[in-house]
Amino acid sequence: MRSLVLIGHGSHLNGESAVAAYRYAELIRTRGLFDEVIEGYWKEEPSLRQVLRTTASTDVTVIPMFISEGYFTETVIPRELGLGHQGPVPPEGIARVIGGRTVRYTLPYGVHPGMADVIVARAREVLPELGPDGPADGIETALIVLGHGTTRNENSSRVIYENAARLRERELFSEVHALFLDEEPRVTGWADLVRAPRVVIVPFFASEGWHTLETIPEELGLSGVVTPFADTPHGPQQVHYARPVGTHAAVAEVILHLAEEARGAGGPGGDTERGHEAAWQAFLTLARRGARVGELLVTPELGVFEIRNALDEGRPGGDLMTLVTPEGVRDRVRFTDGGEHRPVHTLRSLPRGWRAVLNEADLRRAVHYTYPAVVEETYAHGCHALRPTPWATTARRQTGIYAKVQRAVPEQVERVAERVCAACLRTRLWAGERLTHSFLDGVPGGMPCAEACTFLVAEVRAEVARKKAASAS
Ligand code: SF4
Repeated sequence: MRSLVLIGHGSHLNGESAVAAYRYAELIRTRGLFDEVIEGYWKEEPSLRQVLRTTASTDVTVIPMFISEGYFTETVIPRELGLGHQGPVPPEGIARVIGGRTVRYTLPYGVHPGMADVIVARAREVLPELGPDGPADGIETALIVLGHGTTRNENSSRVIYENAARLRERELFSEVHALFLDEEPRVTGWADLVRAPRVVIVPFFASEGWHTLETIPEELGLSGVVTPFADTPHGPQQVHYARPVGTHAAVAEVILHLAEEARGAGGPGGDTERGHEAAWQAFLTLARRGARVGELLVTPELGVFEIRNALDEGRPGGDLMTLVTPEGVRDRVRFTDGGEHRPVHTLRSLPRGWRAVLNEADLRRAVHYTYPAVVEETYAHGCHALRPTPWATTARRQTGIYAKVQRAVPEQVERVAERVCAACLRTRLWAGERLTHSFLDGVPGGMPCAEACTFLVAEVRAEVARKKAASAS
């Protein structure tokens, strides 16, 4: 049995941030090579601290869904997963045994040599004439691999140069250039550099966004997919502007290669993780009788299960939107009724107006999406196997912009927590609160919080910053 975990950044504010990881997880799931594909996030749930506990097998491969190596892939993710490693990840990845699971952590997908194929695939979308040996119409064509570039992270430019070098060797294009938005050589100077009459620009970016949709077209004067330039130092030229590599479906192949390479001669995989399976069996026993889990009402119906917001209890099914897949539930519960993003799923803001009818396997996945890690953590708490992490430990671990939470005094933390956590179903074990009964014992809102979530950490940071600004003025 094998589990694959894709780690995305996520966002406390923007619901779109997590979508790329979801989409790749879906693509890889359809390939059936892993028994499960789970997504985990820095700023959403399941969080990096929780995600390993949500995996069903003892053989787990973790892939950071980042375009280059850097602070997140070398510091934040290894630290939060408990890998006991900081700094550059070796090409073969890192393997550790954590809580009975063998965990293999790989380099981010963006540095895999297979990304050169994704660049070519993107180029082909805007230049269908590009055949296996070069442009079929014989017109000289240059390729620009466009990176963000930043003096703070030399890895992000290194991956651009490496891909440009790989593609030069393939001789598909008459010229291949590595250019950048924020460092030299800048893409704004392309016309001085590129001689070919036709130019393909492929942004080596993780996702579509402000840069790919606005700043790049604006700075280069692009008017669409194809833009003619009548007067450049090398005569008339035509620029073909591709979509970013990170959103291409072929990235799924790169992820699978990475996962296979991380396993090496890894054998048949692991076993079912017993604690995880026991947690879900306890949940299913409850579900078969009908249950409330937080704001969710679970009702067994003729061999399947219906879930809905408990506030919609008694409403005719025809009045509600009927969902039939875990992914449909996921996409619904990620936003409140007002359309606001829900980075913490145990906040009491589960949307209403829907129901889902699911078989037992899909019920597990739908409940995982609705309350990530809650079944596993609640069961572990009941077995006295969930160790709370006090605030001071969480604060000490923070780095980068979050390091300033170490300056928060206990009263500040408590004040913020009272505001944020008051809206949350979970009981703050990390602050010394006690949870004597859980939803597994029939108390719907009984769910443990073993450690302050990143949402609360961010709010404490904002409070510290506000206090500092107030005392300076
Ligand atoms: Fe909920 Fe507060 Fe725990 Fe975050 S820290 S999960 S808001 S109880």
